[in-house]
Amino acid sequence: MSAIIMDGKALGLKIRESVKLQAAGLKEKGIVPCLAVVLVGEDPASLSYVKSKEKALTEAGMESRDIRLPESTSEEKLLSIIEELNKDNKVHGILVQSPVPKHIDEEKVIAAVTPTKDVDCFHPVSVGNMILERQGFLPCTPHGVLKLLREYKIQIAGAHVVIVGRSNIVGKPLANLLIRKEYNATVTLCHTGTKDLKSHTLQADILISAVGRPNLIKPDMVKEGAVVIDVGINRVTDTSTSKGYKVCGDVDPAVAEKCGFFTPVPGGVGPMTIAMLLQNVIEAALKRRVYE
Ligand code: NAD
Repeated sequence: MSAIIMDGKALGLKIRESVKLQAAGLKEKGIVPCLAVVLVGEDPASLSYVKSKEKALTEAGMESRDIRLPESTSEEKLLSIIEELNKDNKVHGILVQSPVPKHIDEEKVIAAVTPTKDVDCFHPVSVGNMILERQGFLPCTPHGVLKLLREYKIQIAGAHVVIVGRSNIVGKPLANLLIRKEYNATVTLCHTGTKDLKSHTLQADILISAVGRPNLIKPDMVKEGAVVIDVGINRVTDTSTSKGYKVCGDVDPAVAEKCGFFTPVPGGVGPMTIAMLLQNVIEAALKRRVYE
């Protein structure tokens, strides 16, 4: 059996085209959608994420307010910069790239971004609104996964979705979105405390891995014909590439021989995350999703 590849790159581009049109419409009304992208330190992976977000913003005709701060930036300084951005009417969204250096309390940083500009949907108020199905932003990666499932007309209602990974940015919000009536999935959430992971993943009609471990999901852990969504982004050493590494997901490529649909890495969930981020900046500029 040969699986269907869920092309997140193509769908992401389609969404970005629509975002571009919306941005142009806003510009005609004198509003330039703007995202402040804050990066503290020089972690290479973070730098590369930030650069691709900034490039996508510019390509969509939006403003990217790039704020690069040295690793030594104090927590107080970072919080005061966020406060300035909160007050700046020209800035519609604020993104602080994670992780921040160890001497800075990430929880405080997340809580400092006003929920009306919290396009990542990390603030406790945003998360609460999302769980309670109130007005508010949807988190980018989980929203991107749902868009992909819809695009490929995957039956979600009544499906058993097994998610591996319980992070605040992927696993937990995704589980919460999937149990909404509009999706009606039955969700199992697995994590490091799960006994016999395989016994759970084998039951999945839709299996979503968001762990960060290459080849964690093997063919014998996947039900024949299942939909497999690989959120993982891992850098593994590869001396044959100019960078010395390659990017792969959590799912063993051999799973493609057994499942019905799968997302490639790169080119699956990653581009969807960026597309949904751009859409959230538009929503912020339109104040459409903002709960005040
Ligand atoms: P995380 O790194 O915060 O936590 C990993 C999770 O995996 C934890 O909840 C842990 O309980 C679980 N886990 C670890 N080992 C496990 C095991 N052996 N069995 C079962 N569960 C296990 O999670 P994160 O921030 O969601 O990141 C996960 C991966 O997804 C990373 O590779 C990250 O780079 C990637 N990611 C990708 C995107 C995207 O746009 N594609 C977005 C966010 C994160």
